[in-house]
Amino acid sequence: SGLNIKSSIDEPFQFGCGIPDTKAPRASAAFVMLARNSEIEDVIKSMKSLERHFNQWYNYPWVFLNEQPFTDDFKETVAKYTNSQVEFGFIEPEQWEFDKLIDRGEFYEFIESQGDRTIMYGNLESYHKMCRFYSGFFYKHELVKKRDWYWRVEPDVEFFCDLTYDPFIEMEKRNKKYGFNVLIDELYYTIPGLFKETRAYIRNKGIKVKDTWELFIDDSKHVKGKHEQDYDGIRGFKRILRRIESNIYIKRIIQTKKKSDQWLNKLSPQILEELFDRVTDRPGINLDRFDREEYNLCHFWSNFEIARTDLFNSKTYEEYFKHLEKSGGFYKERWGDAPIHSLGVAMLLSKEEIHYFRDIGYKHSTLGHCPNNSPSNQLKYEAQDPILGKDEFGIFSKRTPDKPIKNGVGCRCRCPLN
Ligand code: GDP
Ligand code: MN
Repeated sequence: SGLNIKSSIDEPFQFGCGIPDTKAPRASAAFVMLARNSEIEDVIKSMKSLERHFNQWYNYPWVFLNEQPFTDDFKETVAKYTNSQVEFGFIEPEQWEFDKLIDRGEFYEFIESQGDRTIMYGNLESYHKMCRFYSGFFYKHELVKKRDWYWRVEPDVEFFCDLTYDPFIEMEKRNKKYGFNVLIDELYYTIPGLFKETRAYIRNKGIKVKDTWELFIDDSKHVKGKHEQDYDGIRGFKRILRRIESNIYIKRIIQTKKKSDQWLNKLSPQILEELFDRVTDRPGINLDRFDREEYNLCHFWSNFEIARTDLFNSKTYEEYFKHLEKSGGFYKERWGDAPIHSLGVAMLLSKEEIHYFRDIGYKHSTLGHCPNNSPSNQLKYEAQDPILGKDEFGIFSKRTPDKPIKNGVGCRCRCPLN
């Protein structure tokens, strides 16, 4: 038997291309982009791509947020790239600036020390503020909060497939609350204290850990440079499944059989696969074990997110954020919003409420994800979709979808990810 992970992974909402229903009722949703005036070129690039691949048919509004007022030039320019409504939100200093009670000398000592230790962006004060804002405040902004859903977009992102259905409506139908398309490992030295604080919060509050935790923890210790990054959502998901299986299920079996780790390495792929098949009925995580475990650094890459705003506007998340804020980790370390969202999601949702947008080809900076149905993608991404195997090649030429393609994930993808 092959890997039976169909039950662990939700299915795509649509196979191949459909005809966009331009008249169907829309969800209460918007694109949300935090940006600086200076990033206008990259903002346009993201807008063009998302409008071309999705929003020309669905016309969801764009919300731009900034702690500085947007210039007239910025506002007029972005309006030219969409037929939809555009809204501009100002971020109040209380939501952007660190607490005035923090000792300034100590604050800069921490920030500069991160620069000395060459922690990526660690010495950029603005980066710390941005991460803190995305961790604890964006969903409180009136322009975001008044809606049920947001789709997070950043300057300089690219979409490679046509999306011919409405992801908000489809998520609503299926009771999904958080959607992602890339999973990667966090850089260890940006969050050495995050999991300890997270664990303390969970224990103090007596939060019942959902099964999603198994996506995020394992027994291995991470040292700098040792863990590789995943550049692809599919492989990322597979790897995480492997982690769940090898670290939680298989280790338990090994313990029972009093076998060593070397024994595991000698197992044939067939036996491993059989073990994997049984993972679906693993028991929930046990807190005693959890206390000894470490975060495996794996997280949803949060520059792409389609999620409910009330997920974060919830008591559990709000108190989680406050707990983290109090610990000082947003400046003492360089905690990113991505692992924090991921751990929050793990606390709040069950696996079934999370959706993997495997059909949304996407790239930001050097990382991205693409389904397997694009010719150029074949060369770069050998990993096959675990459910569907090799997809049909998409045909990418016209602006409006023509006849639906029955098989395959993603619609007319073309991913020059190299
Ligand atoms: P990276 O993707 O982790 O390299 O981080 P980015 O520099 O792209 O920042 C993430 C998001 O926050 C992007 O949407 C940026 O436009 C935005 N951003 C970062 N710093 C600032 C800032 O100081 N002010 C504003 N308004 N936006 C920022
Ligand atoms: Mn970015």
